[in-house]
Amino acid sequence: MATKLQRPDYAYMGGKIIPWDDAVLHIGCEAITRGLNVFEGIKGYWDIHGNFGIVFLQKHYNRLLRSARLLHIPCPWTYDEYKDAILQLMGRMLSKERDMWARTSLYVVEGHWGEGTKADLIITAYHQDKVMPDPIDIGISTWQRATDSALPARIKTSTNYQVGRLARMEGKPRNCSDMILLNNQGRVAEATGSCVLMVRDGVVYTPPASEGALESITLAFIENLAKSLGIPFVRRPIDRTEVLIADELAICGTLAELVPIASIDGLPMNANGPLLTSIRDRFFKVVRGQESDPFFETTLVPKEYIKNA
Ligand code: PMP
Repeated sequence: MATKLQRPDYAYMGGKIIPWDDAVLHIGCEAITRGLNVFEGIKGYWDIHGNFGIVFLQKHYNRLLRSARLLHIPCPWTYDEYKDAILQLMGRMLSKERDMWARTSLYVVEGHWGEGTKADLIITAYHQDKVMPDPIDIGISTWQRATDSALPARIKTSTNYQVGRLARMEGKPRNCSDMILLNNQGRVAEATGSCVLMVRDGVVYTPPASEGALESITLAFIENLAKSLGIPFVRRPIDRTEVLIADELAICGTLAELVPIASIDGLPMNANGPLLTSIRDRFFKVVRGQESDPFFETTLVPKEYIKNA
């Protein structure tokens, strides 16, 4: 599941596409000294009709603005400017064989302690194989998701990922490719870069964002898919012991998509459970354009933006 670090040819920075090697930030800016940024991880898929579409772009822009507002980072880019920037970069880099994902970030490049804060919109994009993710083994970390009054999970900022990094490193010797972070009450918050789905007695559960999870765009999509399949979907707090005795478990997110869990803390799980398998099948049919869904949104990269595909 881990995305290998790629070294693409281009990045978007300072209002234009530039060579990757030129995309550098000064060591003196708050993006570096305080890790001050907000970002979105965004996915694009080739559909069966030969179109490449970026999913839920408006929702990602809206969440980027909410994160920026919470950290008092002004975002002068309109949705249309933001959209055009990512379409340009993905169009330049697209190839027919592979999907892509992008990171759209506002890095704080000017200002000091909240005075004169200015950000640059910086976009990097990466290729991704067109495959359904395999089931993974996970564990429960001793590292915790911070509280809303410490480092709010609702803000999608890089500093929030330091605990996720520690959790993944903790999981490595236990052969876990991802880890669940609990909140300070010992209940399930989320995984390091995705949300948790749990099935018990025919109902899909996920913790509400107030338990320490990002307000996930994929989760809203999956909630909708579940309901359209007649599968009950409930947001409520989840105890640690519940995930250990669940009928089915998965993680979901823009990049993770929907990954079944094969074991948790060494306890085997049914990675082919009926509920999450049917949601997963529907998920991939919708993103590939094999089935339509009223909730699903995709922004096609215009043909004239595509250079090599
Ligand atoms: N939690 C965290 C910590 C994440 O990084 C992500 C991925 N953005 C998610 C949850 C899932 O959010 P989304 O479905 O909007 O990608």
